Amino acid sequence: MTTTTTMTTMTTTVLPVRIRSYATNAARRLLASEPLNYEAHCAVYGGLSYLDGEQIILAAELAGLRGHGGAAFPTHRKLSAVREAARRGRRRAVVVANGSEGEPASAKDKTLMSLAPHLVLDGLALAAAAVGADRAFLTVEAGHGLGRYLTEVSRQRPAPTVPVTIVEVPQRFLSGQETALVSFLDGGAARPRFQIRPVYEHGVGGAPTLVQNVETLAHLALIARHGPGWYRAGAATSLFTVRHADGTPTVVEAMPSTPVRQLVNTDTDTVPHPGSSQAVLIGGYHGTWLPWADAASSSLETLGVPLGAGMLAVLPHDRCGLIETASILRYPALESAGQCGPCLNGLPRMASAFAELAHPTPRTDFRQIHTDLSRWAGLITGRGACRHPDGSARLAHSALTTFAREADAHARGRCTAPGRPPMLPVGK
Ligand code: SF4
Repeated sequence: MTTTTTMTTMTTTVLPVRIRSYATNAARRLLASEPLNYEAHCAVYGGLSYLDGEQIILAAELAGLRGHGGAAFPTHRKLSAVREAARRGRRRAVVVANGSEGEPASAKDKTLMSLAPHLVLDGLALAAAAVGADRAFLTVEAGHGLGRYLTEVSRQRPAPTVPVTIVEVPQRFLSGQETALVSFLDGGAARPRFQIRPVYEHGVGGAPTLVQNVETLAHLALIARHGPGWYRAGAATSLFTVRHADGTPTVVEAMPSTPVRQLVNTDTDTVPHPGSSQAVLIGGYHGTWLPWADAASSSLETLGVPLGAGMLAVLPHDRCGLIETASILRYPALESAGQCGPCLNGLPRMASAFAELAHPTPRTDFRQIHTDLSRWAGLITGRGACRHPDGSARLAHSALTTFAREADAHARGRCTAPGRPPMLPVGK
């Protein structure tokens, strides 16, 4: 399926990261090999033809475009819901382009905004037209210089019909969750909040609000140029962040039908060969651990596990999956707003039980911990005001299955990676 493959080391204003693309048409892919200014953007992608709101929504529907921020919700339905709520309430809508990845291991949205910022801004303008917005925000994770960079980038463009405010959001695991963004833009904390009415009806400043991931908006900008038929006929790529054992990321553009082995292959001497892998984490810190032997030859499409925000981490044979999972589980447990029972009680208990599995003492009762973890996972799933606890329960459950042999080894006083710190980052 690969007709174009590039491997470029890029150094931009944001972060050094390798990129690789399996897009089938070099001129139309999401990932340019270097940051494009507005002139270069127009030369590479061509002009954006005018479409009215109904046409934009129809194009998204015919293309089958879904959100690339984690929930994979059909984009046209989100656009229609906000447009309709605005019409019903006789209020102008607000659009938020969500580039606040939150998850420390994820780099795909930052990379996209760094390399193809005008594609994201084109998509934001289209979304604003689709829902009839009079205000737009582009939210980015603080700490990478993206706010300043994108402010400079937006000055290269013709004056937009809908003004765009670029906002840096604190680096927190949940700061990209849509109610957290609304709270922050309304002057509150960047944490999920209880919402009696959904954001599409009652969001920023009480206005109907569309919160849409930046990669989804970039796809919308391509669909508006080339049409839904082009998108459906092999252009529906996705961006993935692949984390390697040496701690470095590669951002890959590929079809979800690409085999996992090919997605994580780096073609570089600096990264251990994935043939020495024992497991792969698919979908990020709310994702699923799978044995490498089960996942390598399958595509993400056929594996049927949630892709989340598109992060894959490859665990080599000389690392301990229980240590990695304990570290990951502790991080969201500390990051939750602690407003709901599952986050207040369930996540800290699960994190602490997993920490004991990873670093047992002579008094550790492995059988009891397994029983407790399974029970808590069942109790918290579906019980929070958002899906945060469900993701941690899924991760814990998959780790218990995938690393069952490692758990047996720990019970006998052995560990694959004694004393080694976890390889996956968990924030500052
Ligand atoms: S489930 Fe957790 S993260 Fe979600 S709103 Fe409740 S306390 Fe916050």
